[in-house]
Amino acid sequence: MEKTFAIIKPDAVERNLIGKILERIESNGFKIAAMKKAQLTPSQAKGFYYVHKERPFFGSLTESMCSGPVVLLVLEKENAIPAWRELMGATNPEDAAAGTIRKDFAVNIEQNSTHGSDSAENAAFEMSYFFSETEILS
Ligand code: ATP
Ligand code: MG
Repeated sequence: MEKTFAIIKPDAVERNLIGKILERIESNGFKIAAMKKAQLTPSQAKGFYYVHKERPFFGSLTESMCSGPVVLLVLEKENAIPAWRELMGATNPEDAAAGTIRKDFAVNIEQNSTHGSDSAENAAFEMSYFFSETEILS
């Protein structure tokens, strides 16, 4: 079983989409190993998205991640990392496949409703950034 880290972003929480997104997660065979609601601080968001610090959208991305509460998740499934990215769809909802979360719920390329780790190394970093080991229940 592989674990990945996911976020339901402020744009989705604000529009009451937590339940709809969790329903897709569970009905696609993921187990929710950890979950909490949080209000990110600017320094937490900047540390989390550190890899993007040179990108032109870094300021606006970190600001929008702090614009309201998020839901932080650890998801578990076989091949969870690619499986969750597939269920989310492409970064830009205009490019996302039919039936994906971002196609159905994202507002635009930045406010794209969910986050998902892109590698095992990043998944380990991101899970430990927000959860202690005792909070992750496999
Ligand atoms: P995430 O890491 O959130 O799962 P991703 O891996 O599909 O998304 P990244 O390239 O890692 O995409 O970008 C991280 C986040 O930065 C995106 O989810 C989106 O919110 C924002 N972002 C990416 N590209 C752009 C852009 N061109 N303009 C504005 N925001 C962007
Ligand atoms: Mg990414």
